[in-house]
Amino acid sequence: MLSDSLVRFRTQLLMNDSLGAIEIRALAEKLNLKPAKSLGQNFVIDANICRKIVRLAEVTSADHALEIGPGLGSLTLALLAQAKMVTAIEIDSRLANELPHTVALHSTNAHQLTVIHADAFDVTEVPNNPTVLVANLPYNVSVPVLLRFLEKFPTLNSGVVMVQAEVADRLVAKPGTKDYGIPSVKAAWWSQMVNAGSVGRFVFWPAPNVDSKLVRFTRRVTPGDEEMRLSVFSAVDAAFAQRRKMLRSALAPWLGSPSVAEAVLQRAGIDPTLRGEALEVEGFCAIARAKLEMGIGF
Ligand code: SAM
Repeated sequence: MLSDSLVRFRTQLLMNDSLGAIEIRALAEKLNLKPAKSLGQNFVIDANICRKIVRLAEVTSADHALEIGPGLGSLTLALLAQAKMVTAIEIDSRLANELPHTVALHSTNAHQLTVIHADAFDVTEVPNNPTVLVANLPYNVSVPVLLRFLEKFPTLNSGVVMVQAEVADRLVAKPGTKDYGIPSVKAAWWSQMVNAGSVGRFVFWPAPNVDSKLVRFTRRVTPGDEEMRLSVFSAVDAAFAQRRKMLRSALAPWLGSPSVAEAVLQRAGIDPTLRGEALEVEGFCAIARAKLEMGIGF
């Protein structure tokens, strides 16, 4: 009699364990699905990219992988080949309903998948402490979704996301560069973000009008508590709302007046003539701390 693992191995050999262009088009036809731009529906038709993403994310058999926007399942299948457990959150009911069937046909690990049919912005709970976030994010909401999951799910230690190339550049940008802005500082509050490579537009169906990049992140110890984060994020929003202005002017609406802003910046040890783009997240923390110490309050 064959052992369980031998049966699984033989089934895997016989089974097509990935989705290519033909399978993706056939699935879309079966579901009568016209990819919706508003939902960022560009599906990966190249299984090698999916395997590469999972490899870069260093997903192991101990991991519970969280995928936002599994679509037709290309990346989900690559995740199921490595992770102990996969939870996939999909907003489109046709895709969410079809995913378990697709996975049952193409993977021996279908029992390891949980599909949550929901808008990722409404999900407040994911059972079994997900450890790694791996997603080809819907491009129109990639930054708020990523920041939300870093905030709400502290067990996510690391991950790899595929986003529009310009968005990736902003997420990994360092102070003093043209790409440095709100996403860079807020992402840096939660994690270290690094560029993990470029992806051409022809690995997708339909091909988007933009190129994509992979960003790998590793969670860090945050530089303050939740109260501090809220204050820092307000300071960041104010500084970059008028990014060409010096901090003493840019922070005035948030702090009350240019003179208060100047006093807070001086107490924080920050030159009031600098612009927000010069500061690391720690600089914004110094401003938030000075504001609190001066009794201006959060
Ligand atoms: N992961 C699939 C792939 O790589 O082929 C599909 C990625 S596609 C870029 C984005 C997916 O996110 C789509 O399936 C879309 O329906 C889904 N989506 C869009 N907005 C969403 C939201 N707010 N919450 C959950 N899923 C969303």
